[in-house]
Amino acid sequence: MQNDTAQPAGNRVRGRLAPSPTGHIHLGNAWAFLMAWLAARSAEGEVVLRMEDIDPDRSRPEFADAILRDLRWLGLDWDEGPDVGGAHGPYEQSARLERYAAAVEGLERAGLAYPCFCTRKELRGLASAPHAGDGSPIYPGTCLRLGAEEREGLLRQGRRPALRLSCGQGELAFHDLVAGPQRFTMADCGGDFALRRSDGVFAYQLAVVLDDMEMNITQVVRGDDILTSTPRQLLLYELFGAPPPRHAHLPLVLDADGERLAKRHDSLTLAALRDAGVSAPAIVGYLAWRGGLVDSPRPVLPRELVAGFDLSLLPREAVRLPADIAGVLAALG
Ligand code: GLU
Repeated sequence: MQNDTAQPAGNRVRGRLAPSPTGHIHLGNAWAFLMAWLAARSAEGEVVLRMEDIDPDRSRPEFADAILRDLRWLGLDWDEGPDVGGAHGPYEQSARLERYAAAVEGLERAGLAYPCFCTRKELRGLASAPHAGDGSPIYPGTCLRLGAEEREGLLRQGRRPALRLSCGQGELAFHDLVAGPQRFTMADCGGDFALRRSDGVFAYQLAVVLDDMEMNITQVVRGDDILTSTPRQLLLYELFGAPPPRHAHLPLVLDADGERLAKRHDSLTLAALRDAGVSAPAIVGYLAWRGGLVDSPRPVLPRELVAGFDLSLLPREAVRLPADIAGVLAALG
């Protein structure tokens, strides 16, 4: 399977910002959203904002509102989204569940998906088994081998299965606009992956592909923590018979200790930095400087970076922040 030469439908670049409203956005999110926005705008393309609130346990409406506010404060805009509407809505995943259900039924009917009764404990037990490229366990296909009778028996006992995609042993190759040529086996990516959890929540992999397809997204720019999701998503494009978008996976932003920024980095959220007196142009200018887009750290507006922006100019190594980053940003003005 080769996607190197696949061209997205249509001529107009359509990029997207796809935040998950599970917390406030931090400098790492700002980095990825800024670059995704610049990649679309520098190609005179459109930007779609999609709220990825698929997981009801983790998503909160107040975070969704705060994220929209923070992104606008940063100086980013979008042509379609939950707050501005558009021709490809709804733009919240929680409002798109029927589409996911229909697609999953199609995959089941085609014999491409199977119920998985493995418990969390059993899956955790796989931790000692071989690992995928991103360190997660490879699903060994236990439930693929269940006979019809065993499946029926488990269902009769009231067990609620997850649903997995039968991925096969294929390889997927694609050309990443930042990370360069990529090639993965499905085992590298964890093997047969879930389309729907046992509690009925649809999986990120499924939702993101269906949404990007239906929203005519031609360019996906995101952090390289998602790199091993891309082959899984490309496989879904293939099964749905849709042309995939082009992908760019950006190096991550790390704290001074080399840790990925996460929700616990409260002081590095845009909200906290703003409260500490940091300006949006200081954040944009600092990130642009670390991305090699400007020569020195100075306040800049996103639109000032559009001309001449090129994803291939971005660094390939992680961006490590200094320990006193809040002070550095505040001093920029
Ligand atoms: N919603 C995902 C996140 O916030 C991003 C998914 C994507 O860009 O494909 O991590």
